[in-house]
Amino acid sequence: MEIVTLPGQAAGGKVWLVGAGPGDVDLLTVKAYRVLQNADAVLYDALVSDEILALIPKHAEKIAVGKRAGLHSAAQSEINQLLVTKAYTRKNVVRLKGGDPFIFGRGGEELETIVDAGVDFEVVPGITAASGTAAYAGIPLTHRDYAQGVSFITGHCKLESRPMDWQSYANPNNTLVIYMGILNADLIKAGLLNAGRAAQTPVAIVSKATTSQQRVFIGSLDNLDELASHPELVMPALMVIGEVVELAGSLNWFTPKTQQSQLNDLELAATTK
Ligand code: SAH
Repeated sequence: MEIVTLPGQAAGGKVWLVGAGPGDVDLLTVKAYRVLQNADAVLYDALVSDEILALIPKHAEKIAVGKRAGLHSAAQSEINQLLVTKAYTRKNVVRLKGGDPFIFGRGGEELETIVDAGVDFEVVPGITAASGTAAYAGIPLTHRDYAQGVSFITGHCKLESRPMDWQSYANPNNTLVIYMGILNADLIKAGLLNAGRAAQTPVAIVSKATTSQQRVFIGSLDNLDELASHPELVMPALMVIGEVVELAGSLNWFTPKTQQSQLNDLELAATTK
């Protein structure tokens, strides 16, 4: 789609491409917080939590542009256009995205449009879902005894223009983190098993990581599809595959509030008996 700019006029505003982190409001960077406080317009995704949206100043225009707001990915060009248009009428236009804008966030695509339109911009990184999940589920992504490296991949297997490189993802000394993979769990399981990854490789699916509703489902590669179809699994969810998942048993320190209140209820029930 051709980007419409206003002839003879320069966009006086600036676009800030900002990562909002994985959910917990305290994981916002200080820079992201400062930028949000000065925002005149904020275009945000469905993944951005309500607590973070509550930090946007009252006078700022808030525009939901995520899939859950009724726009599908074909509307990406409309978002790009809106960013450019807003930069003509607003000083600080914030494009707020879940996690980090340069990790499966289409941040690059949006910036290309902004560059083409000659609009000024800055990028503020965010804590990506993999880092948030790793910390809050007690799964170090690398560990000298288990994994010398980690790969972040998209599980949108069929939509990718290039085929999945299962052979390299099946490396047993590497941790695999899969974004957007839940609906393709069966393909992922088959791809990795066929490429020789052991059926007993530990896997974790972490849903709503870093939030008060975080849930961690642990299993092994041969039951990845069953884990992914667990009735209590709520999106967004991330898969972590590799030996490091075993450490979750001892390094898991985070008790989401919902579980905490259940625990308190249990304790209360026990003490009132
Ligand atoms: N730019 C984002 C990723 C966008 S892709 C980032 O850096 O984190 C969207 C995918 O991210 C989801 O399908 C899910 O796999 C993952 N994700 C994002 N937030 C998550 C969370 N709080 N818990 C678990 N997975 C999450």
